[in-house]
Amino acid sequence: MGNYYQEEFETMPVEEIKKLQSEKLVKQVKHVYDNVEYYRNMMDEKGVKPEDIHGIEDLHKLPFLSKADLREAYPKGLLAVPQDDVVRIQSTSGTTGKRVIAYYTQHDVDLWEECCARAIVAVGGTKEDVCQVCYGYGLFTGGPGLNGGSHKVGCMTLPMSSGNTERQIQFMMDLQSTILCCTPSYAAYIGETLKEQGYKPEDIPLKAGIFGAEPWTEEMRHSIEETMGIKAYDIYGLTEISGPGVSFECQEQTGMHINEDHFLAETIDPDTGEVLPEGSVGELVFTCLDKEAFPMLRYRTRDLCILSREKCSCGRTFIKMKKPQGRSDDMLIIRGVNVFPSQIETVLLKEGYTPNYQIVLDRENNTDTFDVYVEYTPEDGDDVVKNITAREKKLQERMKTMLGINPKVHLAEPKSITRSEGKAVRVIDRRKLH
Ligand code: ADP
Ligand code: ZN
Repeated sequence: MGNYYQEEFETMPVEEIKKLQSEKLVKQVKHVYDNVEYYRNMMDEKGVKPEDIHGIEDLHKLPFLSKADLREAYPKGLLAVPQDDVVRIQSTSGTTGKRVIAYYTQHDVDLWEECCARAIVAVGGTKEDVCQVCYGYGLFTGGPGLNGGSHKVGCMTLPMSSGNTERQIQFMMDLQSTILCCTPSYAAYIGETLKEQGYKPEDIPLKAGIFGAEPWTEEMRHSIEETMGIKAYDIYGLTEISGPGVSFECQEQTGMHINEDHFLAETIDPDTGEVLPEGSVGELVFTCLDKEAFPMLRYRTRDLCILSREKCSCGRTFIKMKKPQGRSDDMLIIRGVNVFPSQIETVLLKEGYTPNYQIVLDRENNTDTFDVYVEYTPEDGDDVVKNITAREKKLQERMKTMLGINPKVHLAEPKSITRSEGKAVRVIDRRKLH
């Protein structure tokens, strides 16, 4: 209990949250219909008018928006306010194609930063903390979002941005940072460098990390927690909906609470669009309830996950989303079998390897080739050299059990796989070139 930034909302009884969502939705649909021609046309095509929406029970009547719509309406087709009310733009990292642009009024920036402040407070952050933000700054939402949240909480904020790991560590030690915000892959890299420099977990001033912007596994969480002697919390978000802080983990660490007073979540069957009951895996869909400039209605994220409204010991009533497995477009289809990079990560960390790996796909004689490069650590050195074939075979078997197909595993020398300072690139798919 305790640790809220906006207790009134974070612990609001579920029925009241739903009432609030309904009131906001009715207003928001009208705002969008009146101001966004692109979406008005979509509603007209579906035969839905703002008057048909009386509350969240009518949400299913609204059309979905997809990334393709955002690209089609690029750059300003979904802007819902006059441009002179806009104070900021951000843009996606372009992981899966052409970037899209999101717009913010001052109200939208405040709302977003408050969501990030909730996340910081939920991990125990207070104004006494020193918060080191090493998500990228600039167009990417990670840096600006957590930076704003950290200011709102009143932490001393270190706007480091990503990269220059030596300097990150120097500032961390000199200024005694207590909260670290970055991608999990960069956290792992910072942890690895700290270890190399001889720091033990007890020498590291950090107490918590807020890591997100890419999928990561429970195994990776444990490994980061152990190396740095911290608690590692997940945070989720996407530029289209605002940025990090759409949902955040509390101290229970069993999924992320969605900021439901601002974002209404559904899960749908990605093939049919049918709304799924809580508890089943589906594609996450968000409706922004009170954003002004870029108010997405029923935006399909392509992230696959489960929603659950179990009671949480932290006292928050917001629905939780389980860690997304990856997005539908991260899923690899290899020789007809569905594979998520996160499954490979799970195997590696369970077998005592580091999260430094890369998957290379190609095509030979009309068949997919599937190679996984895995680094061994300097401590493994001698043993690996003596037993390389046996070790590769063992990993290969473990992966076959997990995935149902057989990769070719290659143990690679320490440091041979490029480290990530932002979102990790796990897959090189050369099949597309054929
Ligand atoms: P891009 O779509 O170009 O990567 P964003 O930077 O807006 O643009 O990234 C948002 C996406 O990042 C989400 O849709 C999701 O796939 C992924 N993501 C963000 N946070 C997490 C998280 N905590 N766990 C898993 N995936 C995440
Ligand atoms: Zn909780």
